[in-house]
Amino acid sequence: MRLKLSGIRDKKVLAAMEKVPRHEFVPEEHLFAAYEDRPLPIGHGQTISQPYIVALMTELLELKKSDRVLEIGAGSGYQAAILAELAKNVYTVEIIEELAAKAEKTLRVLGYENVKFKTGDGFFGWQEESPFAAIIVTAAPEEVPPPLWEQLADGGRLVIPLGPPQGVQTLWKYTKQGEEFVAENHGLVRFVPFTRK
Ligand code: SAH
Repeated sequence: MRLKLSGIRDKKVLAAMEKVPRHEFVPEEHLFAAYEDRPLPIGHGQTISQPYIVALMTELLELKKSDRVLEIGAGSGYQAAILAELAKNVYTVEIIEELAAKAEKTLRVLGYENVKFKTGDGFFGWQEESPFAAIIVTAAPEEVPPPLWEQLADGGRLVIPLGPPQGVQTLWKYTKQGEEFVAENHGLVRFVPFTRK
């Protein structure tokens, strides 16, 4: 089964997308659509992102095999598995406990040993494990949570959708260069809202 990923050029990202079995992250009633290029419900009002967007955001992170990566919004764990293929350590935070538990189990069964989970509000990032070479946020806040700026290493990349909770958002990539953040706009996207406890 092949995903349609036209526009994604990074061969390592494409290889990871080929390797990770998306059907393992999709609930049984949506299995028929596991390899279609669209988001699917994973329960609790949340979704596993569209494969093209997963690939695009991963490509923008410019991961090296030695990198430590933070993900906010573990959801099904699919994006975390893709990151685990390309980086050294993945730290992922999920606000809904049941989703975190299920995603952690899925990754364990698939044999990923370099992903650590935390249940909680990703607004605060994961201070103890910072700094990170890359941070990806897979739910949309209106603005970048300030702790995430602080937890990014120099030269680090932050990929995040920003915009109103029920509308269309903009996908941003920020690269930390000393005291500055260089911003790039990567177009319109639609994500589930970033929620607070
Ligand atoms: N990356 C996921 C996509 C999940 S959808 C995947 O590959 O399946 C976004 C997830 O972000 C949801 O599970 C939602 O519960 C979670 N989320 C929303 N606000 C959050 C917050 N403040 N902290 C942590 N997770 C959050």
